[in-house]
Amino acid sequence: MRTVLTASQLFTPDRVVLQPAVVIEDGVIAEIVSRRDAPLPAGRHVELPDCTLAPALFDVHIHGSGGHDLMEGTASVVNHVGEFLARRGVGAYLATTMTAPMDVLLRSLSGLAKLLHAPVEGARPHGIHIEGPFLSPHKRGAHAAHQLQTPSVAAFDRLWQAAEGKIRLMTIAPELPGALETIAHATTLGVRVSLGHSNAVAAEAQAGVRAGGVTATHTFNAMRAFDHREPGILGEVLTNDNLYAEMICDGLHVDPAAVRLFWKAKGKDRALLVTDAMSATGMPDGTYHLGEVEVRVKDGRCITGEDTLAGSTLTLERAVRNFAAFTGAPLADVIPLATRNPARMIGLEGEVGSLAPGRSADIAVFSAKNELVETFLRGEPRGVTAAQATFNG
Ligand SMILES: [Zn+2]
Repeated sequence: MRTVLTASQLFTPDRVVLQPAVVIEDGVIAEIVSRRDAPLPAGRHVELPDCTLAPALFDVHIHGSGGHDLMEGTASVVNHVGEFLARRGVGAYLATTMTAPMDVLLRSLSGLAKLLHAPVEGARPHGIHIEGPFLSPHKRGAHAAHQLQTPSVAAFDRLWQAAEGKIRLMTIAPELPGALETIAHATTLGVRVSLGHSNAVAAEAQAGVRAGGVTATHTFNAMRAFDHREPGILGEVLTNDNLYAEMICDGLHVDPAAVRLFWKAKGKDRALLVTDAMSATGMPDGTYHLGEVEVRVKDGRCITGEDTLAGSTLTLERAVRNFAAFTGAPLADVIPLATRNPARMIGLEGEVGSLAPGRSADIAVFSAKNELVETFLRGEPRGVTAAQATFNG
């Protein structure tokens, strides 16, 4: 089966192809040409006039969606979440765990590890992000205080073994005792380390970077506030040009003015968009669980019993659209934040986050108004369910 998609433009995303024609054979991209330079290739034509083709999105921080929490670690949940994400432009993600009792966490990790290479409907998990248990009690957000742990190589190794070496990202507060050793150890195993849920002063954050930290978890949220005499972790995250940094761009977690500051500081090679989405995403208001924590959702806002903002109901295509709206940046500059940049940060740029011959035909299609209109995964259209209840400022 040979299908040819035509559209108005395509972002690889390193370059823009105008009047693109993408030839797809057996779910794989065979060729990308511009109709300006070449005749229209033969095949079954799918016309997407006025549309932009981009790589399917890659979310490195997501806990669940569509009523399901990934910590359940079952094939059914991974399939449900994958199907949900596929209809919202996402082709790949890192299944993200919360802080939990050690036995619960180990069970989740071992369940998820076995599913990473299983055939899956929809978006594919490409590894695990452990958010906790090595977080600061002062900046724990929705993570249960009594389940936080002091970092140690031994504790990390228990998680690593349960996860069969499938942990690709770890959020950790670098100021905790034992954190620097644990960061260095995880880094030697190929895990990317994200500084976050942290009350670090600047020197502690810098030590975390020297030990191996390469990115930051939901910048501004669950971090020591910026002070001009003690800029803290935020000073390091915003000014170290080597560091990547995540943002939850739902208009609730970070004010649009702070989004613009983040954009000026991190720019198009280092900024990352994530959702931190929980099971309530795509569901009506009500009571849901984020790991073991009960969360009330009203108008898309997720609040724990302690009145803490917990996770989000954001979808990544909305994050892209919000970011473009808040910053005024063109879609061509924002798409890499949810495709190429997370892929490079994790070291998966050979597999996800860009469009090229030989790659799986995983393509997100945006309208001229930056609305997601279709997702193709492995060359098959997945349809789009209109995003609901997601705040858009
Ligand atoms: Zn999270």
